[in-house]
Amino acid sequence: MLYRTEGIVLKTIPFGEADLIVYFLTHDCGLLRTFARSPLKTKSRFGSSLEPLTHSQIAFIGKEGTSLPRLTRSDIIHSFQLIRSEINYFIMVSEIIELTLKFIMEREVNRKIYTLFLETLCNIENNILEFQTYFLPKRNGQNLKARLDLYLIHYKIKLLRISGYAPKLDGCGKCGREADRFFTSQGSVFCKKCSQRMEAPFVISKGVKKFYYNLLTWDITKINRIRPSEMLLSELSDILNAHIEYITSRTLNSKEFARFLASLF
Ligand SMILES: [Zn+2]
Repeated sequence: MLYRTEGIVLKTIPFGEADLIVYFLTHDCGLLRTFARSPLKTKSRFGSSLEPLTHSQIAFIGKEGTSLPRLTRSDIIHSFQLIRSEINYFIMVSEIIELTLKFIMEREVNRKIYTLFLETLCNIENNILEFQTYFLPKRNGQNLKARLDLYLIHYKIKLLRISGYAPKLDGCGKCGREADRFFTSQGSVFCKKCSQRMEAPFVISKGVKKFYYNLLTWDITKINRIRPSEMLLSELSDILNAHIEYITSRTLNSKEFARFLASLF
């Protein structure tokens, strides 16, 4: 059976001498793994369309439910070449590629994440372009790195929420009272009284809590208009990264996690 959809290349793995396994985040099939025959040969029909981040119209063929359908077409809609062209930008974006691969189950349609991923790439590229075109060291008080960090943090928060792992910062995880001590092992803040025997926490400022809940609800058009301080971005980023590191090292890739995620849909 032949299927068509649009997708973004997340990563490729060499297979044999000239073939590739290509991971797409797609509009209609969620995370999709496909087999591409001979894309590494010079006259390949795929051309440069299998470079990471390339957004394309794709077609693939396979029996229903097959785990590795064969990619038959890939027509570029947008290459996101600008993000790939500088290693620093690509490394930043690689972080959300890896997270998406870890948090999204194969073949689980998730259009919200697909759209957000695409919008995030578009905004990152537009910002790079704007800073480069006008040689801007800063714009409205922000440098390019802080600008890109904001989009990445926003994406991470939305991905965590959709996969059921958003940290809870709005009140003590036990008694509900106001609390500012965040524990990665619990994914929540706790008040002093309820956290007496726990490990060392991250202490979270009120500003970060507010910022986090704003990002959780705001869409990307709102993100385009805000200019948070670098300190706020870095504080929230540290908490999120510690939280993500804890869950990915403990739970992800286990069968238990796969079952948990499956139960959310
Ligand atoms: Zn408490």
